[in-house]
Amino acid sequence: MKKIFLFGNWKMNQNLHATKNFAAESAAFFLEQPDMKAETEICIFPPFVLIPEAAKNFTKLGINVGAQNASDHGEGAYTGEVAPSMLKEAGCRCVIVGHSERRHIYGETSELVNKKALNCLASGLIPVLCVGETLKERDAGQTIDVISSQLQKGVKDFPVGAAYIVAYEPVWAIGTGRAASAQDAEKVCRLIKDSVHVPVLYGGSVKPSNAAELFSQPSIDGGLIGGASLKARDFFEILKNFRASEI
Ligand code: PEP
Repeated sequence: MKKIFLFGNWKMNQNLHATKNFAAESAAFFLEQPDMKAETEICIFPPFVLIPEAAKNFTKLGINVGAQNASDHGEGAYTGEVAPSMLKEAGCRCVIVGHSERRHIYGETSELVNKKALNCLASGLIPVLCVGETLKERDAGQTIDVISSQLQKGVKDFPVGAAYIVAYEPVWAIGTGRAASAQDAEKVCRLIKDSVHVPVLYGGSVKPSNAAELFSQPSIDGGLIGGASLKARDFFEILKNFRASEI
């Protein structure tokens, strides 16, 4: 049985009621299918304000909680920011850094992403470093160059043996319903894995119908899932379909 990471990025969605509901549905799922917990690391990334409620409800089910972003600074006069130490105290285990929506909507550079990741490591949090090329870059044959550059800059000055995860998320596949082919995703994830030797996730329109093929690739250790993580039923269907394909 392959160990997989099932990470759910809620983005700016859900509320208190939906968080409690997701926990109740997760509890029911694991009661019905306790074997689905084996060799699976689950983490849900809610909006900041839902993190305490998620930590209260999810951690007892064996589901970790993460944040979608963190400041590159420690506590202090940085209005609107959240320090990694605060996220740690609120119950987070992981933090997404460099998601394409942060890079492209908010102009985050790889240098800033690197500072955020280093700051998370210093607080004992596991950064989930997102890398991915745009459609324009892909069409220009620049995928490998873009990924290598984002990766190199993103992990600069990481201490030897640092615990982190990389998520390969082609920008053109995020929220579009058009996932990368398993072969294309594997090719890029292999390049990443060969270079940094940490778990590598694929993200971009993962759904129950394509998870088995994607997650069975040798260099893909699981998924960072957006839309299909909002409903517990879809999210766990992804896990069920992948496990069924292993038999
Ligand atoms: C994401 O938000 O990281 C993502 C991959 O979204 P989706 O699964 O909806 O494409």
